Amino acid sequence: MKLLIAEDDLTSRTILTAVVSKWGYEPIAVEDGEAALQVMQADNPPRLLLVDWEMPVINGLDLCKHIREQESSDPPFIILLTSRSSTDDVVAGLEAGANDYICKPFQNAELQARLEVGNRMLDLQQELNRAKEEMAFQASHDALTGLFNRRAIMETMGREIERTKRNMQPLYIGMCDIDHFKTINDTYGHLAGDAILQEVANRFNAALRPYDLVGRYGGEEFLILLNSDESHVEGLFERIRKAIELDAFLYEQESLRVTISCGVTQFSPSTDKRNETELLAAADAALYKAKNSGRNKIIID
Ligand code: GH3
Ligand code: MG
Ligand code: MG
Ligand code: MG
Repeated sequence: MKLLIAEDDLTSRTILTAVVSKWGYEPIAVEDGEAALQVMQADNPPRLLLVDWEMPVINGLDLCKHIREQESSDPPFIILLTSRSSTDDVVAGLEAGANDYICKPFQNAELQARLEVGNRMLDLQQELNRAKEEMAFQASHDALTGLFNRRAIMETMGREIERTKRNMQPLYIGMCDIDHFKTINDTYGHLAGDAILQEVANRFNAALRPYDLVGRYGGEEFLILLNSDESHVEGLFERIRKAIELDAFLYEQESLRVTISCGVTQFSPSTDKRNETELLAAADAALYKAKNSGRNKIIID
């Protein structure tokens, strides 16, 4: 665990550095608040700080304020060290953003215990952040396929339309639907159907370019968003169609053939006045045509 020590007094700094090293910390010792701020603004800064109040250039109190001004989902734990012990000083230190406060002179045992409290707080904060990230992921992704869920892909579509208006590059909106998927469920069972959905999602991810977007719109329907010029779009969607058709899907001992149909509409930012619902309806209408003209095909309206 890295530990930033900001202390202008050489003797105290040397002692602190030696003591915390013995406790297993990796000290980074600096002699004023400005140097401390530089460490905190570099890559991968320490999360635990021991900060003297009285220091030249930027004192400990102002250092706390500067650090708290920086937006962070994982803010550092700051312990202020000082010979000031009046209630007003304690309040000023905590209000400036210190998490804890140790009055000089102090016993090493107290310092060690307070550093451990800091460590525990940082661990809790990290756990909380992980849980929050996990929840955000679950809220925006489909549990079966790992793709964006319907809400997330629809939000993304709104953003992509706005972005397209600035870039002036057409956006293609494709609704892809697995052909005769009900038959797969009916013949091989629902678990086989689930495995096919997962493999379809994998093949979409492999066939799409890194900046293309795909989400599970519902059941066995997937919404694909991609920017392209008109001459390439058919090739891009054909690649996706072939990625599903060409190799059989293996489920247990069975080898299954799967195909998709896809309806695509073009959103041209300069002339298009359609909203998201209208664009989806157009992609759906093209999908309907693909289904009615033999399936396993792409129709671009
Ligand atoms: P079409 O070619 O016209 O699209 O025919 P289809 O059979 O694919 O279409 P239909 O809408 O009749 O059936 C879709 C099926 O997809 C019905 C539904 O049970 C199945 N389905 C939807 N979500 C899931 C899922 O999460 N897992 C499985 N195994 N099946 C699903
Ligand atoms: Mg000092
Ligand atoms: Mg369907
Ligand atoms: Mg279908």
